[in-house]
Amino acid sequence: MGLEEKLPSGILLTTVEQIVGLARKTSMWPATFGLACCAIEMMSAGGPHYDLARFGMEKFGATPRQADLMVVAGRVSQKMAPVLRQIYDQMPEPKWVIAMGVCASSGGMFNNYAIVQGVDHVVPVDMYLPGCPPRPEMFLDAVLKLHDKVQNTKLGAHREQEITETEERMLRRSLPLVSKD
Ligand code: SF4
Repeated sequence: MGLEEKLPSGILLTTVEQIVGLARKTSMWPATFGLACCAIEMMSAGGPHYDLARFGMEKFGATPRQADLMVVAGRVSQKMAPVLRQIYDQMPEPKWVIAMGVCASSGGMFNNYAIVQGVDHVVPVDMYLPGCPPRPEMFLDAVLKLHDKVQNTKLGAHREQEITETEERMLRRSLPLVSKD
């Protein structure tokens, strides 16, 4: 016998965290941030065939100030790294990052001085997506897994530890820690 049996029909018990998590995961707005070939698959996922709109994600924003998801689609050059970090810093909290493809996740086949060996040297990453390039179905799978993470994130607890680790890496690499302004 549970508490539900004593409630009038139509009454549902939940927590504020669950409601906030539901609202956040069903209205994620990605920042447009295609860097290389993987961006073509990301754009494909936004088309009518794969229909990101059913997850509340049809709005790819041109401004980071109206986005809470950064999809790093493609290799990150050393010159682009501070720009990427600045865009990330301009996104309001809470925010999430998907590293799309092996180049964004680890540098991929570009093991050289010009390419950052994984975007987690620059920003904290929530989801790593393998493939060269990953198909739109794989991107959708990553989005759904990220939804689970968002749903179960406690209020105010998002990635404090990860930010510290990323900033340590950036300091070791001498990348500028840019302001949010
Ligand atoms: S993972 Fe492959 S498709 Fe994606 S940016 Fe790298 S080379 Fe291009």
